[in-house]
Amino acid sequence: MSDHRPSVAVVGAGPAGLIAAETLASAGARVTVFERMPTTGRKLLMAGRGGLNLTHSEPFEAFVGRYGPAAERLRPMLEAFAPTDLVAWAEGLGQPTFVGSSGRVFPKALKASPLLRAWLARLAELGVEIRTRRDWLGWDAEGALRFRTEAGAIETVRPDATILALGGASWPGLGSNGAWAGVLAERGVPVQPFRPANSGFDVAWSPVFKDRFAGEPLKNVALSFGGRTVKGEAMLARYGIEGGAVYALSAPLRDAVERDGRAVLEIDLRPDLPLERLAERLSRPRAGQSLSNFLRKAAHLSPAAAGLLREAGEIPADPTELARRIKATPVVLSGVQSLDRAISSAGGIDFAAVDHELMLRALPDVYVAGEMLDWEAPTGGYLLQASFATGVWAARAALRNPRPSTSSG
Ligand SMILES: Cc1cc2nc3c(=O)[nH]c(=O)nc-3n(C[C@H](O)[C@H](O)[C@H](O)COP(=O)(O)OP(=O)(O)OC[C@H]3O[C@@H](n4cnc5c(N)ncnc54)[C@H](O)[C@@H]3O)c2cc1C
Repeated sequence: MSDHRPSVAVVGAGPAGLIAAETLASAGARVTVFERMPTTGRKLLMAGRGGLNLTHSEPFEAFVGRYGPAAERLRPMLEAFAPTDLVAWAEGLGQPTFVGSSGRVFPKALKASPLLRAWLARLAELGVEIRTRRDWLGWDAEGALRFRTEAGAIETVRPDATILALGGASWPGLGSNGAWAGVLAERGVPVQPFRPANSGFDVAWSPVFKDRFAGEPLKNVALSFGGRTVKGEAMLARYGIEGGAVYALSAPLRDAVERDGRAVLEIDLRPDLPLERLAERLSRPRAGQSLSNFLRKAAHLSPAAAGLLREAGEIPADPTELARRIKATPVVLSGVQSLDRAISSAGGIDFAAVDHELMLRALPDVYVAGEMLDWEAPTGGYLLQASFATGVWAARAALRNPRPSTSSG
């Protein structure tokens, strides 16, 4: 029996690839997903360990702005598959969502496994075939996709269209190792070098400070760098500093550390208290209190915040000077954590390499989606949202541009 439906190979079974597969199969395409790992969606499951921040509920213009220089390229895709669409999709899979206090959207289950299970069941119903343990190596001389199986054999496939959704290069142990960059660069696709995004930074803490405070949060602080201020939480680590508010500034901080070898992050340890009020409180007599006790009582500083203040240099005796220091405690960042531990990666396929449909200009009928494209965004659900939106976009484009079937195997 001949099958006249278009055949599409989706390579990479992360959120971008799986939503592309769903979009294609729902429209009647024959879809095979190839994945190098033994199971699908490993990074999605890892994201689930932090509650699975699916998307963000802020107004659309503010939302799009989070993608910085890539915002205008991503805008039509984020409009076509918007945060509300992602929420409706999750709910359709039996995963109701809620909006957290910061506007971030999470599934009520606060994990990814039930969502992924329901999703895979839906894909199976749609007839999507998933072949795991298939490491994509590129194309052979005839233009067929080449995969290495676990046994080391080479399998080739010649679909009508291909969607590459191979992810970025952070946390390579989860499957996305960025090895595809060399394959595409050889084919004339401009690929920007990978750089850590949403990463922690090295700080030369004193031994006493790191022994005492590594693993402690700095809650309700405001971090400033390069004219931008972000309120939120940071985490003190043995190697330095990490956490949501740090990630939000991580792109300009990373650029500065790479350029200058260092960057000075300013931390306001009491952002809700104006300088004058703080100075007034610090003018109260200290009586016999230890400095830590005094700072705790007068300025409501946690032991970690007071420790950080001491770490930043001699504590000023003058109350106004001390208040100024509390409102702008300098922390010198001396390095960027490696890609291995960054939440996402910047770099990847240059937008100049794709047309408005996300098809590679150098390779007709090959579309790309997800984190492998050169965009970056802070944590807050923006990474998953853009991965989904580009996956849907590439799949719809592949459906609009059917090519006659050559062969498949
Ligand atoms: C610890 C952590 C927490 C996170 N939390 C959040 C969060 O809460 N919210 C959020 O928005 N984002 C979060 N992210 C980021 C988010 O998970 C990613 O941006 C998203 O998974 C990217 O989707 P993707 O489909 O483009 O790539 P991936 O999810 O990386 O999927 C790509 C797939 O391609 C496969 N692959 C790669 N190369 C090959 C090859 N040669 N052959 C075959 N298969 C291949 C990989 O094995 C992988 O399965 C988090 C990331 C991490 C690491």
